[in-house]
Amino acid sequence: MKKRQSFLSYGKQTIDETDIAAVVETLQSPFLTQGPKVEEFEQAVADYVGAKYAVSFSNGTAALHGACFAAGIGKGDEVITTPITFAATSNAVLYCGGKPVFADIDADTYNIDPNEIRKKVTLKTKAIMPVDFTGQPVELDEIMQIAEDYNLVIIEDGAHSLGASYKGRKVGSQAHMTMFSFHPVKPITTGEGGVITTNSMEYYEKLQLFRSHGISKTPYSLEQGDWYYEMTELGFNYRMNDIQATLGLSQMKKLDQFIARRQEIATLYLKKLAKMQGVRLPTQLDGTESGWHLYTIQLDEQAIGKTRRKVFDEMRAVNIGVHVHYIPVYWHPYYRKLGYNKMICPVAEHWYERALTLPIFPEMTNSDVEEVVESLKEVLEN
Ligand SMILES: *Cc1c(COP(=O)(O)O)cnc(C)c1O
Repeated sequence: MKKRQSFLSYGKQTIDETDIAAVVETLQSPFLTQGPKVEEFEQAVADYVGAKYAVSFSNGTAALHGACFAAGIGKGDEVITTPITFAATSNAVLYCGGKPVFADIDADTYNIDPNEIRKKVTLKTKAIMPVDFTGQPVELDEIMQIAEDYNLVIIEDGAHSLGASYKGRKVGSQAHMTMFSFHPVKPITTGEGGVITTNSMEYYEKLQLFRSHGISKTPYSLEQGDWYYEMTELGFNYRMNDIQATLGLSQMKKLDQFIARRQEIATLYLKKLAKMQGVRLPTQLDGTESGWHLYTIQLDEQAIGKTRRKVFDEMRAVNIGVHVHYIPVYWHPYYRKLGYNKMICPVAEHWYERALTLPIFPEMTNSDVEEVVESLKEVLEN
């Protein structure tokens, strides 16, 4: 089989000269942290998604931690989420002393199934953390209805879905809080970084407190000197800095282009893989526009006469960076120790055994796509 000269990773950032020039300018400015760029970036993200507020964090995981704090998650509270996500989603619940409860996925969208969420609601349920897996928005209308029925907080994990839309509206304006991550493989990057968007002033204020030691910025009476401040909550140092925010601002200008290119690649895959035996392609929910963060196919081992593991190894051997997203979270040893057993979510587990992620990122060329398709054909046919 033909081997690619260089390894094609499943995802990576796009950084150009304008990004570099912008960051250099900030490095030469008086502010490296907490200067004007952080607020400018927050405003740009809030405006883009159509939310009132955005609060930035040092990374997406810290942002999820902040959202769980703002939602008041504490000891004994249950939070319903999907097992097909990065561990950071449910870890944020654990940080606050809460209990993640895993609800099964929909076999077509791979996203959490609203009917399964309803089955898992108890008197202890306080929030739902749906994840827009691969960039495809979750069924927000139904999930918001569940929130209303049971008085729950929705914290949407949009790590994959900045730029995606649900029924004509950008992800990030409808859930009570939405998290976006700016890790280099995500839709745009700040190196490390994250944000929570919200329309709630109450959450906005709590998030600001939490990311900066629990110290409030409220001006105090004139009796106090200018040095004075008060710490009112046990917060963290989870702030984003001006260097990161500058890169983020520059990247935001290119977000729509990035998403458009990801869509093009997804369309190419659809065209070229549609007739391949034993391969199931991702489907799009009506009324949603995916951000195509990941392109995940499913392999029917029986139909192709080869295991997923063998396909994975053979693709890697020719430098095609296939991957598998994600191991069901509750399978991890830490979760097993907490008492989670296998088979909590059978649809998710069945799906995981067959899943394979193909490379997709804005700088990928059509000939890269061609190489992935040709290699996959060869691997499946031989
Ligand atoms: C990347 C990611 C996170 C965590 O974001 P970081 O910025 O890496 O901390 C959380 N959830 C999902 C689904 C992710 O993909």
